[in-house]
Amino acid sequence: MLEVENLTVVYGRRRALEGVALNVGPGEIVTLLGANGSGKSTTLRAISGLVRPAGGAIRYEGRDLARLTADAIVAAGIGHVPEGREIFTDFTVLENLQVGAHTVPARDVPARLEAAYALFPVLRERRRQRAGTLSGGEQQMLAIARALMTRPRLLLLDEPSLGLAPRLMREILGVIRRINADGVAVLLVEQNARAALTLAARGYVLETGRVVAAGRSADLAVDPRIRAAYLGLSSDRVIP
Ligand code: ATP
Repeated sequence: MLEVENLTVVYGRRRALEGVALNVGPGEIVTLLGANGSGKSTTLRAISGLVRPAGGAIRYEGRDLARLTADAIVAAGIGHVPEGREIFTDFTVLENLQVGAHTVPARDVPARLEAAYALFPVLRERRRQRAGTLSGGEQQMLAIARALMTRPRLLLLDEPSLGLAPRLMREILGVIRRINADGVAVLLVEQNARAALTLAARGYVLETGRVVAAGRSADLAVDPRIRAAYLGLSSDRVIP
């Protein structure tokens, strides 16, 4: 579904990604792990057209994304929930969802709103409220719901549980499972590596802009380097 090959991204003179390769199959959940600054957000931003690659290829359902604008990439079926949510805090919940639907034909918007409210009932209750008055968890739900308004088949999620209490984090992870059960593929950047590897079938590990490990989540979870660096476990113990 998504194929990234030899992707290089440069910010000024800084090389943020160097030869990154990854793929996501239809309906899969794939996670991207790595320390701060390793290039996870940049990878998502390159896929959704927010930064232009200096080299390499990004193909989605056979189309070359590097030739498309960010809006055209959304229209092609990719949704992006950026780190930090970036919702419009002075707009109401409903207005935020309407912004997410600005490319959707007007006659389809009511059904999309209903689908969003079915997934996140709290957003229906709060639809007339300013988004800035929502809790962190509710704002994250709004950011995800907004990205779903265009009915993407691939959702890019950047640190959805960042700053959330454990209960809300579990709720968000449950939501990701439900979205995926509806057939949406997910490329997940998540600081909680343990949760990410539980949710995802496969993963990639980035270090200073390069993929240093890739494989099935079950295999990554027992890799001594990954256990030590990302799971906070000693590298020689067997899986709990
Ligand atoms: P984090 O978990 O902290 O968000 P990350 O793995 O998502 O980290 P990126 O945000 O993709 O990493 O950053 C990769 C590298 O590119 C870092 O060295 C970062 O400082 C640099 N970088 C990111 N955005 C920019 C920018 N707009 N201009 C210049 N350098 C940038």
